[in-house]
Amino acid sequence: MSDIIQLLPDSIANQIAAGEVIQRPASVVKELLENSIDAGSQNITLIVKEAGKVLVQVIDDGAGMSQTDARMCFERHATSKIKATEDLFRIRTKGFRGEALASIAAVAQVEMKTRPQDDELGTLLQVEASVVKKHEPEACLAGTSFCVKNLFYNIPARRNFLKSNPVEMKHIIEEFQRVALAHPDTSFSLFQNDLEVYNLKAGKLSHRIIGLFGKNYQKQLTPCQEETELIKIEGYLGKPEFSKKTRGEQYFFVNKRFIKSNYLHHAVKNGFTGLMPDDTHPFYVLFIDIDPKHIDVNVHPTKTEIKFDDERTIYGLMKAAVKQSLGFHNIAPSLNFEHDTNVELKMNPEELLRGDLSTDKDYKKEKQYVRFENLKSENEKHWEKLFSGLENKDHAASDITNGPQERTITFSSAANNLPSSQVNNVQDHVKAPYQLHNAYIISQVKSGMILIDQQAAHERITYEKYLRNSNKNAVASQQLLFPQTIELNPADYELVMELQGEIKILGFSFEPFGKNSLIIRGIPADLSGTNEAAIFEGLLEQYKFNKSELSLDARDNLARSLARQSSLKAGEKLTHEEMKAIVDQLFACENPNYAPNGQLTFYILDLSKIASFFNK
Ligand code: ADP
Ligand code: MG
Repeated sequence: MSDIIQLLPDSIANQIAAGEVIQRPASVVKELLENSIDAGSQNITLIVKEAGKVLVQVIDDGAGMSQTDARMCFERHATSKIKATEDLFRIRTKGFRGEALASIAAVAQVEMKTRPQDDELGTLLQVEASVVKKHEPEACLAGTSFCVKNLFYNIPARRNFLKSNPVEMKHIIEEFQRVALAHPDTSFSLFQNDLEVYNLKAGKLSHRIIGLFGKNYQKQLTPCQEETELIKIEGYLGKPEFSKKTRGEQYFFVNKRFIKSNYLHHAVKNGFTGLMPDDTHPFYVLFIDIDPKHIDVNVHPTKTEIKFDDERTIYGLMKAAVKQSLGFHNIAPSLNFEHDTNVELKMNPEELLRGDLSTDKDYKKEKQYVRFENLKSENEKHWEKLFSGLENKDHAASDITNGPQERTITFSSAANNLPSSQVNNVQDHVKAPYQLHNAYIISQVKSGMILIDQQAAHERITYEKYLRNSNKNAVASQQLLFPQTIELNPADYELVMELQGEIKILGFSFEPFGKNSLIIRGIPADLSGTNEAAIFEGLLEQYKFNKSELSLDARDNLARSLARQSSLKAGEKLTHEEMKAIVDQLFACENPNYAPNGQLTFYILDLSKIASFFNK
């Protein structure tokens, strides 16, 4: 048999290889934008015509290329970004394969003008289907301008395969958004058929997000930050109440490269657990900075997937960072916690709360105390800012983060139970709370007015308390004078048996009492005086409901269910002191913003907003 194997001509080999890198106009956009970033550009303009099918042009003011490089850059495996194998393990640039320009030039008509910053004259290069048509000196601006015309003009089958203009444009905008998000300190503009779609000035990440997604994202952002020896996580999360049913606004960047990772997405969602329904997705823009030696970017040709050598640690850190961000940074939309490191408590909250209640014979009062028992957390540092400065005459000033002289921190939890000498020390920062329709608590705060949903707030308070208690394994149980028996259906009985350890930790004490029955001998101390059997059954019902709706561990679910059962409801009249205690304790919670079911607990109406009602 005669020999039949031949080497493919370069033009065909390039076309085939191009299929890997360039699938559609958006791929050209991505490669050109990334090259401009790698070239250190400050200003990048993207111009597209007919969704990139007619023209994709990228103009930058980066390093530019010499006359020889201008020719070289179109060769396959021509790159300035790596020289030796070791370089593969310290890649910080977007590109490194040296394939993009060769691929683009194989399937389009390309015109490039480029001039290094210090050269007087630049270079013009025209390439069509990998064939150089022109290569000559040209007077042009410093930096590089790439025109990619008529993509796939030489491969009709692929050109026909392109989708409608709106679909292709959507892909282009997605690529543009990813690059623009990753580089807020570079200015970007995008023109589509001569219309300006984006004009993004260099600035902070938060400004870039708003520039790309709209002003209404401003109020939903909460910063997220974590730094360890291994990685640095930085960025913004969307607050849970803004989460959406559809995915698409989740952005991870590893060393400023956009990546997709279901694994990390899961970690973030895990950090949101219980704050929103399982089938919704939060907005986020998160940057992971990690030494490139810990990652392998080579796993996917278009490089949106990545492998970490220590995935589990990164998962844990990500989840913790999200949890912390939602808990601590999220007090009010206008707060900025950057400067609040020197917060000093005027009194130690524990001192304040050391009131001896055992002598108090009044049952209601005692119950009220336990019900509104103090919760102490990191958050105290932050929330008091809401109220600080209220004593100041000039509380019209809306900037809550003024100088340190305004930071008079107070603590007045359950102040009514304290000896009067201590009460005098307590500054009344919760100005005259008022109950609206037996459902909401209204109070003045420095920036305006706070409106608290009493049921949601109390559920958050009790939930955190039960959760903390169940983790401490030490909860006061109140023994019943008359133990109660309850009969359950067989399935519920099994469930109780399965969960009995966890349920007992919450403060219930019970044991089997014949077939499918229990005898309840004690209940959590702060629930005494209520119908024990009803609480127990309600707890089970809520647990089963939560189990079908949310993926929680048993302890979390039980704490949540008991909180639901035992918390205040809308419609209950509250005393002045109870209202104050709720406000205090809510803001001592780790996550005061949301009830365990994700509902908002409070809302702040800004003075400026109030003024706007009156056209001021
Ligand atoms: P890679 O980015 O993987 O190196 P490309 O084919 O995208 O491969 O680019 C090849 C080379 O051309 C780059 O390594 C770089 O040196 C040069 N280059 C491409 N675009 C630009 C640009 N906008 N400004 C300056 N140099 C560029
Ligand atoms: Mg490149």
